[in-house]
Amino acid sequence: MRGADVAGPEAESGKFHAGNLYCPVSDSTSFRRFLADVRFPYLAGTSFLLFGLIFGAFQLLEITIRSGNPGADLTYLHLSRGMVTSGGLVIWIIWTLYEYRDRIRTVMRQHDDQYQRLLGAAVETILLTDDHHRVVYANTAAERELGWTLTDMIGKPLTEVLPVAGGVDAARNRRWEADVTTHTGRVFRADLTHVVLLDEDGRREACGVILRDLTETRLRQAQLERSERLASLGHMAAGVAHEIGNPLTAISSIIQLMQKRPQDEFTTEQLQVVRENVNRINKIVRDLVDFSRPKRADLAPTYLNDLAEQAVGLMRHDSRCRDIRFEADLAADLPTVTATADRLHQVLVNLILNAVDATAGQPDRQVRIRTWADADMVHLSVEDNGKGIPIEVLPRIFEPFFTTKDVGKGTGLGLSVSHHILTGLGGRIDVESEPGRTCFSLRIPRETIS
Ligand code: ADP
Repeated sequence: MRGADVAGPEAESGKFHAGNLYCPVSDSTSFRRFLADVRFPYLAGTSFLLFGLIFGAFQLLEITIRSGNPGADLTYLHLSRGMVTSGGLVIWIIWTLYEYRDRIRTVMRQHDDQYQRLLGAAVETILLTDDHHRVVYANTAAERELGWTLTDMIGKPLTEVLPVAGGVDAARNRRWEADVTTHTGRVFRADLTHVVLLDEDGRREACGVILRDLTETRLRQAQLERSERLASLGHMAAGVAHEIGNPLTAISSIIQLMQKRPQDEFTTEQLQVVRENVNRINKIVRDLVDFSRPKRADLAPTYLNDLAEQAVGLMRHDSRCRDIRFEADLAADLPTVTATADRLHQVLVNLILNAVDATAGQPDRQVRIRTWADADMVHLSVEDNGKGIPIEVLPRIFEPFFTTKDVGKGTGLGLSVSHHILTGLGGRIDVESEPGRTCFSLRIPRETIS
């Protein structure tokens, strides 16, 4: 086989195990290769040397004998010379071949180990089959992905271990996508590659299957598509919001004018309702415009303590906050951040209003604002002792238009706009919540003095 021998002696005897990827001197093909690989020039050279040494030694012996007895019969000497030479050469050749065979085996075993470790570390599922499509090797990812134990997989038909919708065409190399069923019955979409491994004579000796689970990739694709859809929705909404803005301002001013004139009770009430609703539409329009405003407009050094004080000061006069105890724990010497102050102000007001809504109807309502800084970031948190955010709602609160408030009360844009503003500044917004406590924390990179 080109690349790696899969089947060892165990494969021939019908037994298979995963630890025998590479065992080269075990069958006739391997033996032929061994003969071809063996260093014949080395063997011929060393044999010739040995031959010369033995012959030389006997020649010296012969000279010594002849000098003492010129007429001596040397027949036995020549006979033993021939025997010693041929015996010596045979022993030398056999020893050399055996020693070489062992060395090759050791090297191959090392390769075998390395291949196994490499395949074992692969994230993809890798299976090798013999010529009869029985599994001879499976890596750890295969155990994890297909739900079989290693020992159960070895020796089983590939179709059983890897039931692929549409089957596997074992005759050709190919890459395709198909549904795969695991041992536990889970069905998943997979990217499959089938490789036919040939021996030196071009005959199919084994096959390899590489499988990648596409579930996560598909999920990520879907998320990407969703955020792209949201982004284009944001653009569209911003366009519409701009168009709605002008007529709304006109309606608002007309209502204000009408409210200044004496009216009957019914008209006064209705005008108030119309005004509140127009204000509400105005807020949604402003939120939508903010959502798609270019991120780095009007950036300037901003002091979060000032913003916190302004926001709290503003909210104190709001009728909804009358029985709320505001606490501010603001760090002295807080570094500034680079931001658009009015957008951060909007974030704070959003968070405070949410805290106010969450504590509605409670006897002891508290909202605590804290600021502090570390080496890289300036932090601000808004904490309330309200009802908390239910665990099933928590993952969705930053989604645009997600709200648990009654129709007419929540737009579901406050947190998504805040998140958008914070990420635009290179910062982030996090939330921790439990019944009786919710804490939103903002972090923004400290201003760097260049
Ligand atoms: P809205 O306030 O218009 O509903 P937001 O995006 O500001 O939109 O908030 C989304 C949802 O997050 C709210 O409807 C509410 O369920 C939840 N939420 C936000 N802040 C709090 C809080 N402090 N306590 C409890 N729930 C909150």
